[in-house]
Amino acid sequence: MFQKVKGFQDTYGDDCACWEKAESIMRDTFALFLVREIRLPILEKTAVFNRGIGQTTDIVEKEMFTFADRDRADSEGELLSLRPEGTAGTVRAYIENGLYNPPGIKKLYYSGPMFRREKPQKGRYRQFSQCGAEFIGSSSPLADADAINLLITYFDRVNISRFTHLEINSVGCPLCRPEYHSKLTGYFNKHKDGLCADCNRRLTKNPLRILDCKNENCGKIIKNASVMLDSLCPECAEHFESVKMYLDALNVKYIINPFMVRGLDYYVRTAFEVVTAELGAASAVGGGGRYDGLVETLGGPAVPGVGFAIGMDRVVALMKLSEEFKQTPPKAFIVTFGGKVKNSEIALLNRLRAQNIPVEIDYDGKGMKSQLKQADRTGAKYAVIAGEEEMNRGAVMLRNLSSSTQEEVSIADLILKIGNNHPFNFL
Ligand code: ATP
Ligand code: MG
Repeated sequence: MFQKVKGFQDTYGDDCACWEKAESIMRDTFALFLVREIRLPILEKTAVFNRGIGQTTDIVEKEMFTFADRDRADSEGELLSLRPEGTAGTVRAYIENGLYNPPGIKKLYYSGPMFRREKPQKGRYRQFSQCGAEFIGSSSPLADADAINLLITYFDRVNISRFTHLEINSVGCPLCRPEYHSKLTGYFNKHKDGLCADCNRRLTKNPLRILDCKNENCGKIIKNASVMLDSLCPECAEHFESVKMYLDALNVKYIINPFMVRGLDYYVRTAFEVVTAELGAASAVGGGGRYDGLVETLGGPAVPGVGFAIGMDRVVALMKLSEEFKQTPPKAFIVTFGGKVKNSEIALLNRLRAQNIPVEIDYDGKGMKSQLKQADRTGAKYAVIAGEEEMNRGAVMLRNLSSSTQEEVSIADLILKIGNNHPFNFL
């Protein structure tokens, strides 16, 4: 017997009902904000991520599933990676397909599996699902605020807002960050011995990343470090003020967390995260920020952008805390006469399905008693007993499985009585 690979998951049964709801509300919410879908490959050239996400990030340093493409006989093979996030691929596609023409804002969303080779634990997997939106082509703080508003609207609609709160920060820009970098480096150098091995490495490569460390001892040192918010240039400070003003206007509640930095190198100015206390160490449910240099970094024109990603596994985990999800039961179960299923019974099955009525039948011709039991187990409301005599009159016996009463009804009335609950009609 085989077992799945560590950090990967099988999802089935009622859990899928929760996933379907999370995903259908996701699509409705993106549609409301006129964010259009972009379907992207799961595999990209490794260079897209190295360049886009940044060499000194956890993802690029140690989390990517990377392999050499053996189709290339002419060389060692080009390196390819399973996508660890969606922004770099979206921006690659935006540039490659010339989506910057005609100029103006492009609002795009993606969704699907992401892959990171990290230590699996509750809420943290090696294959997980994200959806994300990218607003590319505006540097207005209103774009930041409306992207955040979209994220919060989604959390409201899947009913998990009471488990979460929004944190925002500004991480400055290439003009004001270098000075802050040296301030931080100076401070952390003084406390080097108290920092973990990872942070000592970050100290030389990217001191900002230390602020994101979850190590307890590091946390004590981080607490007294100076914060980017005190070193913003006037333009970044004004941008941050405007984001807050627009969030207020949109009635989005937030708290300012001056220590929040995001795990990716491409962010400038606005950074935000939605966090929860309900999932242990996996506290971030979604996050994002502004990435004005990214399109250019990946070889496109100088176009600004802002976006976010949502961890759908964590959304689903939060949804299940307060609600039970069930797969839609059949509306009816056709109880056949036993033995080989008759053509008239098959015709009835077809007729009900043609009316969009999800209806079950026993393929194996078991006895009636066993079929009724089976019908009960499926959660069907009705059993339709397709007796030969009744069928000859164009009728069936309709048995209400909860009240155990039954009556003869014509097939035309049957359709009215049962109604339909095709999944696409249930909203
Ligand atoms: P974390 O701090 O939990 O490692 P992150 O900063 O690495 O998160 P992002 O790159 O911002 O995460 O991805 C956006 C969202 O994707 C996260 O807020 C989280 O909900 C989800 N996510 C990230 N990594 C995983 C994972 N390994 N398993 C499940 N969900 C994940
Ligand atoms: Mg991470």
